[in-house]
Amino acid sequence: MPIYEYRCPSCGFQKEHLQKMSDAPLTACPACGSSGYAKLLSAAGFQLKGSGWYATDFKGGSSAPASSESSAGGGGGCGGGGCACH
Ligand SMILES: [Zn+2]
Repeated sequence: MPIYEYRCPSCGFQKEHLQKMSDAPLTACPACGSSGYAKLLSAAGFQLKGSGWYATDFKGGSSAPASSESSAGGGGGCGGGGCACH
């Protein structure tokens, strides 16, 4: 069941409401009774955990030696003599 964040523009009251998709949206502020009470469309709860954990999971799952070797070597850049790290 999704959680909707509501905010009242009149008094600033803000609260999260657990509602079914089929429930009618709230319109009256529980604090002051203003009819301006409305959902906040926030993406905070829906952030994609994209490359972060996915890359970590991929490295850990494939093989530990390969991942440590690649991090020590720093990729292909050092092999060509283009950097001063050796
Ligand atoms: Zn209010």
